[in-house]
Amino acid sequence: MRISVITIFPELFREFLSTSLIGRAIESEALEVSVHNLRDFTEDKHQSVDDEPYGGGGGMVMMAPPWIGAVRALRTDVPSRCVLMSPQGRRLTDARVQELAAGNEHLILLCGRYEGIDERVQLTVVDEEISVGDFVLSGGELPAMVLIEALSREVPGVVGQPECVEQDSFRQGLLDFPHYTRPQVVEGLQVPSVLVSGDHAAIRAWRGRQAIRATVGKRPDLLVQAALSEEQLEWLAEIEREGSEYQTAAKDLVTRAEDKDNTKSPRE
Ligand code: SAH
Repeated sequence: MRISVITIFPELFREFLSTSLIGRAIESEALEVSVHNLRDFTEDKHQSVDDEPYGGGGGMVMMAPPWIGAVRALRTDVPSRCVLMSPQGRRLTDARVQELAAGNEHLILLCGRYEGIDERVQLTVVDEEISVGDFVLSGGELPAMVLIEALSREVPGVVGQPECVEQDSFRQGLLDFPHYTRPQVVEGLQVPSVLVSGDHAAIRAWRGRQAIRATVGKRPDLLVQAALSEEQLEWLAEIEREGSEYQTAAKDLVTRAEDKDNTKSPRE
């Protein structure tokens, strides 16, 4: 996978690209990331990249020509896709990460700063805008790193065991199951006994149920889209039954507590 980044702060990427899984992926050439300084594509001697907005108002706007020049210089004959990191883009999802990785295009990521980039960059060289969430950051560098890290997990050999990626949240339309490691007891809390039972079928079933339980509890919206197997649908029904039993029991407790309250003699 080949990724080029254009930024006015290339130094922000140094540690990121040399650390942990991404560092190793780059070293092994499974992933190729190059970072380019926008100022190298300026034509004036001050290497200016921004100017005041037409129409007035506060803040500075990044000028179009250096961006257009940089993108055109980096587009070579392999298929390429120019992505503008922008809060106005489509919000990044696991599905989009997989599509981008499968597309196997040379990705050129543009990291804006200030009030953003002159609109004509979008109109000429940008293929797609991607956002990392509904909030505004001061620059596109962190969003670009988010995208690079998510993409790197799709490159064969980056994450040691591919099944780890497959069981991760969102991949099967569900959240991941809870994880435990040593010690067996933490603050009086035991590891669920099934995980130390050595019974692989029971562990698999427990994890499957827990993934559904986590999704029901934290992201019920995901269940609407998830293509659940019959086994998973059974687990879901069980979990929902437990939920309603729990609610009935809780309601009973409240009613009993209220009844008890009512039998007390009224206060003076
Ligand atoms: N005025 C713009 C925000 C500019 S923030 C607006 O309100 O739409 C400066 C730069 O930070 C942007 O050009 C973009 O590259 C980056 N950025 C900020 N928030 C982002 C987000 N949520 N996702 C992706 N990039 C973002």
